[in-house]
Amino acid sequence: MIYLDNSATTRPFDSVIKAVSDNMAENFGNASSLHGMGVRAEKVLKDAKAVILGKLGLDGNIIFTSGATESNNTVLSGIPAAHRHGGNRIVTTSFEHPSVAKPLEKLSATGYDVVKIRPPKRDEPQDFEQRVINAVDGNTLMVSVMWVNNETGFITDTAKIYNAVKRINPKTFVHVDAVQGFCKLPAKTLRADLISLSAHKIHGIKGIGALYCAKGTRFEPLLYGGGQQGGIRSGTEPIDLIAGFAEAVRSYPDCTEKYAELNERLISRLSQLDGVVFNSYGNAKNILNFSVRGVRSEIMLHFLEEREIYVSSGSACSKGKTSGVLAEFGVSDKDADCAIRVSMSPSTAENDIDALAVEISNGIKRFRR
Ligand code: PLP
Repeated sequence: MIYLDNSATTRPFDSVIKAVSDNMAENFGNASSLHGMGVRAEKVLKDAKAVILGKLGLDGNIIFTSGATESNNTVLSGIPAAHRHGGNRIVTTSFEHPSVAKPLEKLSATGYDVVKIRPPKRDEPQDFEQRVINAVDGNTLMVSVMWVNNETGFITDTAKIYNAVKRINPKTFVHVDAVQGFCKLPAKTLRADLISLSAHKIHGIKGIGALYCAKGTRFEPLLYGGGQQGGIRSGTEPIDLIAGFAEAVRSYPDCTEKYAELNERLISRLSQLDGVVFNSYGNAKNILNFSVRGVRSEIMLHFLEEREIYVSSGSACSKGKTSGVLAEFGVSDKDADCAIRVSMSPSTAENDIDALAVEISNGIKRFRR
């Protein structure tokens, strides 16, 4: 089996499965309990926070959530609710994940001025960050930009945006959905007041995510209840999943060179095939989006699946429907219909890339009209 759909989700590392099951079996206490079992559970929580902060290279707080969808919703409902006089403008991009785009639609309907900055097309000046910065004014409550786009891999220099935004309006909150970049890109281009993370994209378990908050960042909770996690996110902390999240962060190796080499290999193999065009540019090297002209994504996907090669037709969230994100990157509807996304993991090997290219070539011979 060759699994190349790691932007959708990943196979948990063996060390993660062990950490989760060990904690389920032996460390099932409630972190709020005052006895020793509670103290042990609380220690797992504290250690996990330290591991994630260490990887981010930031000071501040980590709130555990059920995933990045919850982290994004927490920010986009909680910041406006806690800062009603903090400004009416929200600057974002036209290629956000639906867990950012949909809450923003709601805010727009309630009167917020939501400004969406589109990415540069491949042959345009690569001035995306500057256009985001130019949209920020004294009335801007928040900037919300993703670090790495889940469909094309496009990278945003969030540190550049953060530094400039704080000079223009120190009160503007900067939020980054860092799901697809975390552990895969060096943290130096990541800077924000609020950062959304998800464990299952880095070989942790589904159902656990985090929200990084810079010191002093105030927002209204999304969930009210027993007041866990300082009252910011109620609900008994899933210590086992949290232990697995921390283990995933610890175990994710530096794949910078590996991904660059595999990406180059894939591009070189696919370039030899007639009618393959690349939709990714300025991208993280673990993600490559391309179109195989004349063969619809769904047909190619199932052809590859029969050969036990798993890729995606775009983003898993759009379930086969064109999400509109590729159009933002200048991909025609016709090419978007034939788009394939390959996303790698630390265990992806050169042989996997070669086998994929061979089967795509076979698929073209079989199906292209
Ligand atoms: N943000 C991005 C960029 C994603 O790719 C995803 C998952 O596909 C999410 C947010 C949602 O993450 P989760 O599945 O943890 O809710």
